[in-house]
Amino acid sequence: MRKRLVIGNWKMNMLKKEALELAQRLSELLSHLNQVDIVVAPPYTSLDVVYKVIHKTNIQLAGQNVFWEPSGAFTGEISPYMLIEAGCKWVIIGHSERRDILGEDDNMVERKIKASINAGLIPILCVGEKLDEREKGYTMKVIKSQIEKGLKNLNLADPNSIAIAYEPVWAIGTGKNATPEEAEAVHGFVRETLRKIFNGIADNIRILYGGSVTPENIKGLISSPDIDGALIGGASLRAESFAKIARLIGGMPHWT
Ligand code: PEP
Repeated sequence: MRKRLVIGNWKMNMLKKEALELAQRLSELLSHLNQVDIVVAPPYTSLDVVYKVIHKTNIQLAGQNVFWEPSGAFTGEISPYMLIEAGCKWVIIGHSERRDILGEDDNMVERKIKASINAGLIPILCVGEKLDEREKGYTMKVIKSQIEKGLKNLNLADPNSIAIAYEPVWAIGTGKNATPEEAEAVHGFVRETLRKIFNGIADNIRILYGGSVTPENIKGLISSPDIDGALIGGASLRAESFAKIARLIGGMPHWT
């Protein structure tokens, strides 16, 4: 049985004061929600203030990115051990904004995944096709390639040591989400691909959907069998909307 998972990706938003207020409000709204694992990924500069608020709650902390070396002359980078020291248990890797804007490729993603797992972080590997790739019918090919390359030569015994996020690039921050049927088709394919790589544990690896998730559309998405939760950008910047989504993912009644 896979426990559902919801992750808020705050991206390059929130100065410390705003981050603190958001974390405090989330702690109030979500402290009784144990049916779902809840994770937030603030920018690096707010990890410490957010950690101080959430570390005694059920909300966990993630980094938005990581470098694969433990330390050294890598100006501007952050190591897995630095994220762990800041209180992170999780790290987002291969987000499409990093792939497309910052030139991150599958080889870099693979190194980041391995370094994170070796250090004890849980990576969330993001994969997803662009609009033109979908229109040309290449969605599954792109997803297969990103997963196989990102997870190359990885031996995993524990399904909870990784999560996958399927995020169609055309749905991120655009207000256009995949329909539950479109998303489930890819999630089922991700699961099949994981079975070929990991055999026995693949059925217990969590696969999240990401791309313009809101309190209004999450119910349809989460009722699909291979959608185990969501990675949320825009709607995670408002405590009430993130909390509503988290409650719906956890199967709790909606409030208005
Ligand atoms: C994301 O950045 O991972 C994301 C899904 O963003 P949004 O929810 O804003 O589409």
